[in-house]
Amino acid sequence: MVTTEWILCPVCGNKTRLQIRQDTELKNFPLFCPKCRQEMLISVEQMKLSVIQEPDAQTQSR
Ligand SMILES: [Zn+2]
Repeated sequence: MVTTEWILCPVCGNKTRLQIRQDTELKNFPLFCPKCRQEMLISVEQMKLSVIQEPDAQTQSR
């Protein structure tokens, strides 16, 4: 039996449209939250979600 769970936005707790299984592995996955209207990089391993902080994210001005 495989457990699936909705991915919750780590910022606002809103349910996203993505589901993960217990054997789902994501790495540097751009998760979009329709409520925050922003994208964040996440990693998922064994249903444990962690947000990846991008140090370069704020230096977009060339
Ligand atoms: Zn959100």
